[in-house]
Amino acid sequence: MGSQEVSTVDWQGKHVTVAGLGVSGIPAARALHERGALVTVVNDGDDERARAQAAELEALGITVRLGDGATLPPSTELVVTAPGWQPDKPLFLAAAEAGVDIWGDVELAWRLRGDNGKKAAPWLAVTGTNGKTTTVRMLASILEAAGLRTAAVGNIGVSLLDAVLGEQEYDVLAVELSSYQLHWAPSLRAHSAAVLNLAPDHLDWHGSMEAYAADKGRVYEGNTVACVYNAADPATEDLVREADVEEGCRAIGFTLGAPGPSQLGVVDGILVDRAFVKNRQKQAQELAEVSDVNPPAPHNIANALAAAALARAFGVEPAAVRDGLRNFRPDAHRIEHVADIDGVAYVDDSKATNTHATEASLAAYDSIVWIAGGLAKGATFDELVTGAAKRLRGVVLMGADRALIHEALTRHAPEVPVVDLDRTDTGAMSEAVEHAARLARPGDTVLLAPACASMDMFTNYNKRGEAFADAVRARAETSA
Ligand code: ADP
Repeated sequence: MGSQEVSTVDWQGKHVTVAGLGVSGIPAARALHERGALVTVVNDGDDERARAQAAELEALGITVRLGDGATLPPSTELVVTAPGWQPDKPLFLAAAEAGVDIWGDVELAWRLRGDNGKKAAPWLAVTGTNGKTTTVRMLASILEAAGLRTAAVGNIGVSLLDAVLGEQEYDVLAVELSSYQLHWAPSLRAHSAAVLNLAPDHLDWHGSMEAYAADKGRVYEGNTVACVYNAADPATEDLVREADVEEGCRAIGFTLGAPGPSQLGVVDGILVDRAFVKNRQKQAQELAEVSDVNPPAPHNIANALAAAALARAFGVEPAAVRDGLRNFRPDAHRIEHVADIDGVAYVDDSKATNTHATEASLAAYDSIVWIAGGLAKGATFDELVTGAAKRLRGVVLMGADRALIHEALTRHAPEVPVVDLDRTDTGAMSEAVEHAARLARPGDTVLLAPACASMDMFTNYNKRGEAFADAVRARAETSA
């Protein structure tokens, strides 16, 4: 069967265990039940919310077992799991032992596409350690500018299952995939896919860097037109080499420098395509200007090139790439400019939750007062601090693992002033902004790019970014 064809499963009477009540588990249970499967949902938690959700599913005839997500129901023929469940859970070990397949939400959506009579739209997939959401949104914007019916879906807040099973028809989907989702998506075959970059993250879940990379690399399996890699990150190109793709599928690189044949890159402030042109030995096609990218920070230009490569692989014209990039607005808390106060720019990159993202964001400014800290998730900070030391005017640290960053600063940037905030209450961010403002000089950037997760002090990175922006705005008002 060709990789883009739709496979059908006879669900009637099939015993399916859905692991996890939640954003992916509930729609999965419903969709399978509607198709005649005998669905049992198992869930670790047994709180009030879970009980209410369980009652709704039980009213439809779905079995729900609360408080025990570990035991595999004996008749199970297939497990459908929420992507975040740790792969070494007893439920999965039992399934593997019994020879029962395990699918994630993405695999289920892939298998169900087209089974409601709707056209099965091809997928353009994006993964990587950082930049996925931005790239997928840029891609969707470009596809829209080309007049295609599309949506940005996947690990981006819009469920793939909803996109696949909903009424709306699509010509193509821009799909963000996390390493967890790819882990559980064995038969996914994208039209084309990009791995933006690879840096250690979520290693506690995957077990090792090799396992993490291998899961990311699955996105290339069975691609039909293009495997897009980052020429500055050889590990991404290695994954292309290792992938088993359809005959004729091409490896396409993106680079911030001048592109070689079969690459997209940048020449004199212009984004150019030397891959999807007639004579790529001699010709390059202008796509857009660097100033069309929003914001034009180096890592974001890389994201734009990856999005452009996927769109061009799908046959989109250059003018639509330019228009789509111009129309694109970044999501909140991603290098978001909050205010200028007394000649100092305040930028919220709360989404920089690991050192790789923070490295990119620190590289985008010349003189920085850096606000950082939180939960380090096993990361080390020596490389990050060494790379940025010359550009640091000062540092304000907060959160549970701030000492790790402080130690790295003492080792590699002992002359940089550091304020160490020993408080975790809601007022901590205001104090951090105050210290940062005191350290900054006109022309500097105060940058919240924590290199850490937020959950020690905030509900999530959104709340952390909002606290920063609120504190900055309050300051702007008093100084106005
Ligand atoms: P993801 O969906 O992969 O988490 P986002 O687009 O939401 O990615 O960006 C997350 C963070 O990573 C942002 O803080 C941003 O500064 C940083 N970032 C974005 N693109 C890149 C990139 N190509 N390389 C490194 N860091 C990046």
